[in-house]
Amino acid sequence: MIAEIRRAARGEALENVALAPRTSVRVGGPARFFVRPRDPPALVEVLEVLSGAAVGWISLGGGANTIVGDRGVAGAVLRLAQDFAAEEVEEAGDHVVITLGAGAPIARFLSLAKEQRGVGVAWSAGIPGTVGGLVAMNAGTPAGCMADHLIAAEVATPDGLRWIPAADLHLSYRHCELPRGAVLTRARCRIRRGTDAEILEQQRAAKADVDKRRATQPLTLPNSGSVFVNPPGDFAGRLIEQAGLKGFRKGGAQISDKHANFIVNLGGARASDVIDLIAKARASVLEKTGVELKPEVRLFGDFDPPLPKELEPHHVAPVGLAQQTFGDLPDPKKTFLRVNP
Ligand SMILES: Cc1cc2nc3c(=O)[nH]c(=O)nc-3n(C[C@H](O)[C@H](O)[C@H](O)COP(=O)(O)OP(=O)(O)OC[C@H]3O[C@@H](n4cnc5c(N)ncnc54)[C@H](O)[C@@H]3O)c2cc1C
Repeated sequence: MIAEIRRAARGEALENVALAPRTSVRVGGPARFFVRPRDPPALVEVLEVLSGAAVGWISLGGGANTIVGDRGVAGAVLRLAQDFAAEEVEEAGDHVVITLGAGAPIARFLSLAKEQRGVGVAWSAGIPGTVGGLVAMNAGTPAGCMADHLIAAEVATPDGLRWIPAADLHLSYRHCELPRGAVLTRARCRIRRGTDAEILEQQRAAKADVDKRRATQPLTLPNSGSVFVNPPGDFAGRLIEQAGLKGFRKGGAQISDKHANFIVNLGGARASDVIDLIAKARASVLEKTGVELKPEVRLFGDFDPPLPKELEPHHVAPVGLAQQTFGDLPDPKKTFLRVNP
């Protein structure tokens, strides 16, 4: 099997690969297969091989928003390299249209925009991960998000490659709808060209954002960013702090004493420790305030013990495997995979 996948990938294909070092919070078990296809056509071939062999797959970007279960992923984890697809730049009057491969770092989205004198993208400065994750999460800040720029995304399925207009992805706050099993391969984005003054202002805003993150977020410890999306009109961190959980520990994991919407790995944390803290924060905030916090993080693969029932809707399992659970879709045979907060 692995030889067939490797042939199709024309890149790296390995068995039993640890995923913890490939996520920013550094917990979780191995992937049965870990595949880095060379380019979009190779990816399509890999998907053909996997679907033909009834092996499920799951896309992993930079792992900056992902918690992998302690039992790992019983299928193939697909990870696109930085140079998986060529960059393109098109002139469009007072705008520029840039196309980036889904494996490119988010930092490249910002730097390519800057090279093209693009403005309105300072919001992306402190967000770790890849362009694929940026689209799949519609990542952003109150100052902007991917939905402000995305024209279309290219996806791969076992049937081939196709472009999907951004409107059909129904992007909203940390929400994107992708066809079942589709792997994002490229993103086409529209960016406004700015004046010298606007470019300077953008540099200042990006630096201020990064400085603010350094001051308020626990960036020196492994973490997966905001654990919960903010409920309307409030902040998840404020509610968790109010529930008295700032600094609360389970095993090697801790609700950060710097920012309560972050869970940090103090060393040796297991996914089950992180999940216990997520469940505890959710239950305490619900009990004290009546607000039901929803995870922003994606819960990948197999958890031990199994995920508590209330977190099951946020579980992402490989497509094609028996235990399919796609977001909170009631009918797993539906065409669209909802990646809900
Ligand atoms: C310190 C820190 C700060 C953060 N700050 C922010 C912030 O300000 N705003 C914000 O929105 N997020 C933030 N995040 C979260 C994270 O950076 C974003 O969600 C980012 O977009 C994740 O990208 P990734 O490539 O790491 O995605 P991953 O974590 O690898 O994956 C996230 C989801 O995207 C899917 N995905 C990834 N690549 C593909 C692909 N090619 N095809 C299909 N699906 C794919 C995965 O299956 C998964 O469901 C922060 C995280 C950290 C650690």
